[in-house]
Amino acid sequence: MQFKSDLAHLVGNTPLMKLRRASEETGCTILGKCEFMNPGQSVKDRAALSIIQDAVARGELHPGGTIVEGTAGNTGIGLALVGASMGFKTIIVIPETQSQEKKDMIRLAGAELVQVPAVPYKNPNNYVRYSGRLAEKLRRTSNEGVLWANQFDNIANRQAHIDGTGPEVWAQTDGKVDGFVCAVGTGGTLAGVGMALQPKGVKIGLADPEGASLYTIYTGIEAGGDSITEGIGQGRITANLEGFTPDMCFKIPDSEALPIVFDMLQEEGLCLGGSSGINIAGAMRMAREMGPGHTIVTILCDYGNRYQSKLFNPDFLQSKGLPVPAWMDGAPQSIP
Ligand code: PMP
Repeated sequence: MQFKSDLAHLVGNTPLMKLRRASEETGCTILGKCEFMNPGQSVKDRAALSIIQDAVARGELHPGGTIVEGTAGNTGIGLALVGASMGFKTIIVIPETQSQEKKDMIRLAGAELVQVPAVPYKNPNNYVRYSGRLAEKLRRTSNEGVLWANQFDNIANRQAHIDGTGPEVWAQTDGKVDGFVCAVGTGGTLAGVGMALQPKGVKIGLADPEGASLYTIYTGIEAGGDSITEGIGQGRITANLEGFTPDMCFKIPDSEALPIVFDMLQEEGLCLGGSSGINIAGAMRMAREMGPGHTIVTILCDYGNRYQSKLFNPDFLQSKGLPVPAWMDGAPQSIP
């Protein structure tokens, strides 16, 4: 019999897929790591599993314990699913302005949802700060332990990529990978893969959406703009990014990233989220900088069904002044 013993064993070991058009246009081999194939459909399942396993190993969480995190997205889904499979309760604190889709998804994953007003970090009721306080409060009365996941500054997050994603990419390419590129939310993926592969001579690139200041922090070059992509765009050196510096940095506007997402769906059958578009655009920029014949890997972070009301909604795109692909407006294309 062949089976995985539990959900934790479904996390990671994702395949690499050749991105046909990105490869053809650059003369390089551009490969996407299919992180949407994790059980929670995103790369964040890896961080969630690693953060939970680390807390268990440190004796902070015992069976029946509770995981608390302030997050609006993929990490909440990952923590809830992995947490449930390992016998933990999960409480996710989220700003009330987040889409119904996301709230429903986190509830579906089995978490308890606490909604707080959407206020900046300096306000004590900001969702991240509130989640830290809630964990502290629950800890006082819990015998089973309470973990505040704290994904931005908990380096068990990047450890998942030092031990998992990075070595997987090396093995899957037989060590013939020349470059790796991705965007940053917490920095766990970029710094973790970077720490695993940079010492082996692989060039590591940051793909930064507009409106994020990490590119400026690393390069000193000012860049403005805005992005509709979600889950990425960082303004500080998180604990996960400390001790790591990318070799190359690329500023990617939505006007470059979104057509790639739409082409991937139309031409290669993959419905991806916006951050994957930023990543593929970054891999193509690196390919052009390195020249033909190189092998470059990037991350396909999550599946696009999560963004139906935004990225794949013509009214939303129009409201942001973004072009709507012809096939998306609902008019039949093939029926005369
Ligand atoms: N893409 C998406 C859709 C995400 O949710 C995240 C995590 N917030 C990332 C990319 C970035 O991953 P990391 O936190 O490892 O930087």
